[in-house]
Amino acid sequence: MKAGNGTRLLINEVATRDGFQMESRFIPTDDKVALVDRLSTLGYAKIEVTSFTLAKAIPALRDGEEVMHRIARRPGVVYTALVPNVRGAERALESRIDEFNIVMSVSETHNLSNLRMTREQSFAQLAEVVALAKRADVPVNVSLSCVFGCPMEGEVLLSVVLGWIDRFAVLGVQGITLCDTTGMAYPTQVQAVCDAVLARHPALEWTAHFHNTRGMGLANTVAAVEAGIRRLDMSLGGIGDCPYAPGATGNVATEDVVHMLQCMGYDTGMNLDGVVAAAEQLESLVQHELSSQVSRAGHRLTRHAPPADFNDIVERANARLQKEQA
Ligand code: ZN
Repeated sequence: MKAGNGTRLLINEVATRDGFQMESRFIPTDDKVALVDRLSTLGYAKIEVTSFTLAKAIPALRDGEEVMHRIARRPGVVYTALVPNVRGAERALESRIDEFNIVMSVSETHNLSNLRMTREQSFAQLAEVVALAKRADVPVNVSLSCVFGCPMEGEVLLSVVLGWIDRFAVLGVQGITLCDTTGMAYPTQVQAVCDAVLARHPALEWTAHFHNTRGMGLANTVAAVEAGIRRLDMSLGGIGDCPYAPGATGNVATEDVVHMLQCMGYDTGMNLDGVVAAAEQLESLVQHELSSQVSRAGHRLTRHAPPADFNDIVERANARLQKEQA
């Protein structure tokens, strides 16, 4: 394992989309706007603000337009949103989105379950979105689900993953996100996949997106970064879920990942104390306990007071020492 040596990493926040879409409580629009505005000050490269899916498909994000119109955009931060189809792309353009994030799964079963379409049908629809984005001069990122395995099909062959990547590269997308949708990735696999895609398409902007379902999220993050990935998705408080995988938990938590990477000497550009404070606010918004750890335990160098009877302990130790020496 290598030290970060100040290597710059770009941090993307997905709590307001990947996280909020699965929350049972509707987060009030005012609170969403206030949270995005707060996140904008913390050093993120990108914030996935919302989704332009049909309101009845994802009611939690039915206020996408209003949130986009009301947030204070900070220069240097890319405000992206999930765009499922041409209709969603038109709404996203009206909201002056900086980037389209389009999504499909490399697993046929997962794509059918999640998007109600075959992969070919999804690809055809997304190709139209990419064409529209090109005319509007808006960059497109593709988030590929189940790159490291499918909860219904099991292993997904790397050759299948590379096949879809090649087809999106031909369309002229700017970046691709390798999504471990249900936390099936493990570090050596991550390294092999990242090595393969970076060697094949070095000019594409690559992002890694890990869920922490089986506790491997931080290890997978290190593997991806050491393989040369410089962009990482994560979610404040580790919120997020997947409806097709029992026990699937949220994304890797922003505070946990940033804390680790900063300890290792990477330059994340992030204000960690600010992230931990924002996680506290998030906990009151979602009204359940967060799964992140640094938000509870604090920085590794957070100093705690010794036990209340510490002076007595020292006195007794000294007394014993004197007795022994006498
Ligand atoms: Zn996700």
